[in-house]
Amino acid sequence: MQTIPEYVKCVQQTLADAGFTPYLVGGCVRDLLRGVEPSDYDMTSDALPEEVLHLFGEDAHPTGLKHGTVTVVSGRHPIEITTMRRDGAYRDNRHPENVVFTDRIEEDLSRRDFTVNAIALSHAGEIVDPFRGQEDLRLGVLRCVGDAETRFEEDALRMLRLLRFAAVLGFSIEEETLCAARKLRDLMGTVAHERVYAELNKLLCGEHVQRVLLDCPDILGAVLPEILPSVGFEQHNFHHCYDVWGHTCRAVGAVPPKRELRWTMLFHDLGKPQCLTFDEKGIGHFYGHTAISARIAEGIMERLHFEKSLREQVCAQLACFDDLFPPERAAIHKEMVRHGREVVGNLLLTKRADNAAKAPEGLARAQKPWLEAQAIFDLLVAEHACCTVSELALSGDEVKQIGFTGKQIGAVLRKLLFEVADGKLPNTKEALFRRAERLWRSGYGSHTME
Ligand code: ATP
Ligand code: MG
Repeated sequence: MQTIPEYVKCVQQTLADAGFTPYLVGGCVRDLLRGVEPSDYDMTSDALPEEVLHLFGEDAHPTGLKHGTVTVVSGRHPIEITTMRRDGAYRDNRHPENVVFTDRIEEDLSRRDFTVNAIALSHAGEIVDPFRGQEDLRLGVLRCVGDAETRFEEDALRMLRLLRFAAVLGFSIEEETLCAARKLRDLMGTVAHERVYAELNKLLCGEHVQRVLLDCPDILGAVLPEILPSVGFEQHNFHHCYDVWGHTCRAVGAVPPKRELRWTMLFHDLGKPQCLTFDEKGIGHFYGHTAISARIAEGIMERLHFEKSLREQVCAQLACFDDLFPPERAAIHKEMVRHGREVVGNLLLTKRADNAAKAPEGLARAQKPWLEAQAIFDLLVAEHACCTVSELALSGDEVKQIGFTGKQIGAVLRKLLFEVADGKLPNTKEALFRRAERLWRSGYGSHTME
């Protein structure tokens, strides 16, 4: 088992010294037992929230008093301490009617979602595991604590958490738990979008996301109905050996676990089922499908209240998804000027993932130009190749001194930038200045711009 850091132990000690019984619980115990470093440490104890606030003074923050949670900052790390509780009756598949505190750890564990998340570790190092979570950890199984249907009816988000943990941990889902989720999946419609969005992000960035997407589109479809037309939709095209959803799942799994990449791949073919046409040879085509996919993606991002920055990143990736350019320095540099370094770096990753999720025949041939493009892109990045007008060795003021005014200045800089990217000009002040002067003499911009 991993060792517990000092900043966690001293919080446990403070609680124990004051006569309380602290336990580590939830994800951190699961991860400690798996030999993985926990991302954060959650604690539970019989101390009431007011008592925790009093005990830790300035280091304690009442972050969730309603649920009995106080966050204590120890060595700059936040630790959530929740008073042991059992939940009251559930009103609406989301919120327990009331929270009742208890001093029995087993009761607190019984309200938790899955057996692997319902293990406690005492200050003395004793494991409390009334639901055989350790055995499920060994087997790599996700199983509800208690009756699965009841637990999902209490809080429908647990069905999505189930898929999230399967995607992150690579665990399989126990039969009854899976059946219950299949049966009750539509209850997830009542869950707040923010909670759905948070779980989906974690799910998509999971190492084992491909398997979960392939196995459970029906459950996921309860919160993302837009995926359902892709499931089983054949492509009638020799580039593809999977249906649209099969391709999508593999493409998601083939990009690095960054949110903007995973969402882009999830979205990129959603429009295909609306676009299928056949040519005279009976081969299927999906003309214009990326634009339709982007429109469907917009709707999803709106509904789930995506953060603005993520939404913009995904839109930018989908907008250039179909761009084609040869693996040549000038072509790639101009693409970087058009879309920015980051978008083009991501574009190369999405291109390769898209290919990797197609039929294996011809894969090496399809990947070759993109691997070459990647090597050139990496070189351009290492050289700090200029991609914006502000990185040009000539400023707007200097262009103005030549005589250009108003919108002409930006247009000249942009033209110089493309010529640098095209390899026609070096990015030096003298060369750019001379070129700008020549443009001035030739009357560049004087007809079209003020
Ligand atoms: P992570 O490593 O992502 O933090 P985690 O297991 O700690 O995983 P959290 O969402 O931080 O997940 O929740 C902490 C613990 O609280 C869980 O392990 C589980 O015991 C319990 N829990 C959280 N959400 C629910 C829920 N909706 N229903 C029941 N128990 C829950
Ligand atoms: Mg946690």
